[in-house]
Amino acid sequence: MTVILDGKKLRDKILEELKTRLEKYDSSPTLVVILVGDNPASRIYVNNKKKTAENLGINSIVINYPSDVEEQVLLDKIHELNSDKNVTAILVQLPLPEHIDKFKIINAISPEKDVDGFTPENSGRLFTGEKPYVYPCTPKGIIRLLDEYEIPIEGKHAVIVGRSNIVGKPLAQMLLNRNATVTICHSRTKNLADITKTADILVSAVGGKIIGINMIQSNCVVVDVGIFKDENGKTRGDVDFDTVAPLTSYITPVPGGVGPMTIAMLMSNTVELFEKNL
Ligand code: NAP
Repeated sequence: MTVILDGKKLRDKILEELKTRLEKYDSSPTLVVILVGDNPASRIYVNNKKKTAENLGINSIVINYPSDVEEQVLLDKIHELNSDKNVTAILVQLPLPEHIDKFKIINAISPEKDVDGFTPENSGRLFTGEKPYVYPCTPKGIIRLLDEYEIPIEGKHAVIVGRSNIVGKPLAQMLLNRNATVTICHSRTKNLADITKTADILVSAVGGKIIGINMIQSNCVVVDVGIFKDENGKTRGDVDFDTVAPLTSYITPVPGGVGPMTIAMLMSNTVELFEKNL
């Protein structure tokens, strides 16, 4: 029988725990989000983050810049936030406009306030085995979800489709740290289905309808990270849920799977950074 990995239910449980954890302190964390331009999706994500943070008692500040802001203005602001003792966590909402070097911006964030875990120091620590200040939110949320349902990782073949810096690459390392055997696939991978069919755990992070019934083996665990709007404007994931789900042992829905876990882990990371500095 297929079990649906319920990210919403686990998110609510985690947020409740974080709220209780924060109630015992005299002060509260402050999360600063830098948003450049007026990308509607980014605005929705930022508003959700702000609302969730405020419900937990986390101060949430959104700094909004116009899309033609100069790179130096952002760098100056990040340096100011780095040295502000009242700021716990800094997040730069991606994507950034093309004239801005996203690596330069991310690299400017102090690793101790890097709530996404994207700075070279934090990703370097992840890849060398030294503990990062915090782990990237989406991979951390995926692993938390697998653990909640007591899905074994050690010794399993995990296939990840997608090699982004925010999902595929850090997730591969985190699964490797948990003793999975990991294969990463991408747009130049040949015979993708032959590889995905060997997965015990299949994670798809592409952003397009890509995983069909002919691409998985029975009883596989499927984690769908992708989110996009289909031709009818409906939110959907990479996996053809209706045909694939019956063949799986566990599967995440879209929406309601990985998305809620990502935001829960952002809050969890903010609290962790706060507690490190008490
Ligand atoms: P991304 O930077 O958009 O990259 C997509 C990846 O998919 C690339 O590695 C690309 O390969 C690969 N790809 C594209 N077409 C492919 C194909 N036909 N076959 C195999 N691989 C293919 O990735 P992302 O930022 O990780 O986002 C991926 C999706 O996850 C998006 O829908 C995004 O909205 C969603 N997302 C969701 C959450 C959440 O919380 N639920 C969080 C983050 C992202 P190349 O490297 O070769 O180009």
